[in-house]
Amino acid sequence: MKFICDDNLGKLARYLRIMGFDTSFKEPISDSDLLAAAASEGRFLLTRDSHILDKKHPFGVMHLTVDDPPAQIAMVIGSLGIQVRPEDFFSRCSRCNDICHPVKKEEVVDRAFPFILKTQELISECPSCRRLYWRGSHYRRLLDELKSAIPRECVIGSWPE
Ligand SMILES: [Zn+2]
Repeated sequence: MKFICDDNLGKLARYLRIMGFDTSFKEPISDSDLLAAAASEGRFLLTRDSHILDKKHPFGVMHLTVDDPPAQIAMVIGSLGIQVRPEDFFSRCSRCNDICHPVKKEEVVDRAFPFILKTQELISECPSCRRLYWRGSHYRRLLDELKSAIPRECVIGSWPE
């Protein structure tokens, strides 16, 4: 499932990318441009703007009535009945939506902190922004946030240790 988020839902867009969903996030644009982008890219529209529901839309749209990102995650995943697989999380860059690729430590020795190179086995890189990802404390925190936000019945498989 592919999503597009309006400019009020930047945090939700990042969480959806972390969960592996192809998610487009638009800085302020007009409702008609947002709807046109959703239609041409075949994306399910997530919006905080109830007015957009009045407009014609030949594709799925959900009006999010809550502000808190974890509550928004629960609403999207739960009410759409989406099944997620935590083992597949963290494969997509949360900044630019591209799929990250594993890299060898030797390739990033000039860019990664020595501590990371020493302690992490799995490092991946976004091909667009070159950001490096590893499973450190930030990863644990995000994983815990997602674990408490995603409805249990929507989870396939187990959570990473
Ligand atoms: Zn990136």
